[in-house]
Amino acid sequence: MIVVWLKRDLRIDDHAPLAEASALFALDGVPMIALYAFEPDVWSAPDADASHLAFVRECLAELDTRLRERGGRLVYRLGDMPEVLETLHAEEPLDAVLAHEETGNSATYARDIRVARWCRRRGVAFREFRQHGVLRPNPGRDGWAERWERHMRRPRLDAPERFLDVGESRVPAASLALADELADRCRLGPDTRAALRQRGGEREAVALLTSFLMERCPDYRETMGSPVRAWDTCSRLSPHLAWGSMGVRRAYQGARRRLEQLDRLGETDPRWANSIRSFLSRLSWHCHFIQKLEDEPDIETRCMARSCESLRDGLDPHTAAARLTAWQTGRTGYPMIDACMRALVATGWINFRMRAMLVSFASNHLWLDWRTFAPWLGRQFLDYEPGIHYPQVQMQSGTTGINTVRIYSPRKQVEDHDPRGEFIRRWVPELAAVPDEHLAEPHLMPELLQAMVGCTIGVDYPAPIVEHRTAYRHAQERIFGLRATAEARSEAQAVFVKHGSRKRTRGRR
Ligand SMILES: Cc1cc2nc3c(=O)[nH]c(=O)nc-3n(C[C@H](O)[C@H](O)[C@H](O)COP(=O)(O)OP(=O)(O)OC[C@H]3O[C@@H](n4cnc5c(N)ncnc54)[C@H](O)[C@@H]3O)c2cc1C
Repeated sequence: MIVVWLKRDLRIDDHAPLAEASALFALDGVPMIALYAFEPDVWSAPDADASHLAFVRECLAELDTRLRERGGRLVYRLGDMPEVLETLHAEEPLDAVLAHEETGNSATYARDIRVARWCRRRGVAFREFRQHGVLRPNPGRDGWAERWERHMRRPRLDAPERFLDVGESRVPAASLALADELADRCRLGPDTRAALRQRGGEREAVALLTSFLMERCPDYRETMGSPVRAWDTCSRLSPHLAWGSMGVRRAYQGARRRLEQLDRLGETDPRWANSIRSFLSRLSWHCHFIQKLEDEPDIETRCMARSCESLRDGLDPHTAAARLTAWQTGRTGYPMIDACMRALVATGWINFRMRAMLVSFASNHLWLDWRTFAPWLGRQFLDYEPGIHYPQVQMQSGTTGINTVRIYSPRKQVEDHDPRGEFIRRWVPELAAVPDEHLAEPHLMPELLQAMVGCTIGVDYPAPIVEHRTAYRHAQERIFGLRATAEARSEAQAVFVKHGSRKRTRGRR
């Protein structure tokens, strides 16, 4: 019997382990089970959230139906791997475990090592297949983009037509309700985003890709930075790519086909092709970022540029805790920051630019060490993908040593992206009656006006937690002071060789 071990690959399309299991059945009549383990050691990590589990559950329910249509089914177990494998093996001897490679957090990394060791000890073959375009091992960053492109252009694996399941009497399926037991055991609490978050499953993913490529994408490139428009004009595929209800290759090939179709149809509006090309670049960024964590797992907890390790030491713990709470609850006194945080916490999503602004604000204005908030922030993202998250958080915190440091002016973000306050008024209702011209800095409203609009600063809405210009200057001096040192410069060179994108080398020099 072989086990197809499902993790962040909850689909039937373009799924190498499932395709292999189906081929082994066709060739040699080998039976299989498709296993999903609810693993307490993984789900009790500080970056795990009830909304993630709820999304996974939706993906699993659909996948089970699809497998059953083809003679298979999902088998659920609650427990840490490899104990789950040990019990299965005792009931029904296993010949092989097939799985996708996963570039995860330290909990899944340690778990994968344990599983490989268990397989070796028990003489069970363990085969891992590449998922997405992340290379293991990575021969180096030179030529990475070309290798990624080649992988994306290879034909996708069709959903297998038939499986031979080992049978309920030999290995009972157990129930998806084990997820509730897991949630209790890991104290995940309720899914507080249930009403407003995206839904899981392959069907939902395909519908999003289709509506994006056929209808929604023309304004993508121009509006992806807008917290008002991005909700509809971005693809919104991220949770599906993160939990695997769609593979990157499917999105890539769909976008390429659409480009060719637009060309054939003689589309004259350049926004279509420009947007699809931007989308294709972002699909490669997906893997480009995950590759960083794959190549250096330590960057989940250590600065990519080690010279930045103690950059933000020294803030007294009470101040740090108060600032962190204000940021997490959307009460910093900066309306764009607060609106973005509240929208993210409620829905599990915010667009790239606003994520970057939130992290930059926490790191530069509030001078918080990224490690104090990165796992919490990961819990808020329904699309939490450790390999994108940690390198992005570090990039926005200025601790990679190689990326441009961006410190956003919260005022300018309002003027550029929400001048009429649509977004801010929706998520910060205390400011609903504040006139447009005061929305960016409501604390500057005269007291009489505050009383007239029913928003007294310090009572109904907080005064700014830090002063923008002072915080900006402090962050600049500290970061650029550090970057100017000889140690930081030579370190930056090494970070670039290991992790840097080769596309814009000239600009960087
Ligand atoms: C601090 C910070 C943390 C982030 N954490 C995550 C995370 O945990 N998971 C995650 O999927 N994205 C993360 N991102 C990247 C980006 O914000 C999201 O991928 C994007 O907003 C998802 O929306 P979408 O699917 O509509 O994106 P689209 O713009 O439609 O892009 C399509 C896909 O390309 C990939 N992608 C897009 N932008 C980026 C980017 N800048 N870097 C890497 N891949 C990208 C994603 O897989 C995305 O689904 C983070 C960004 C920042 C600044």
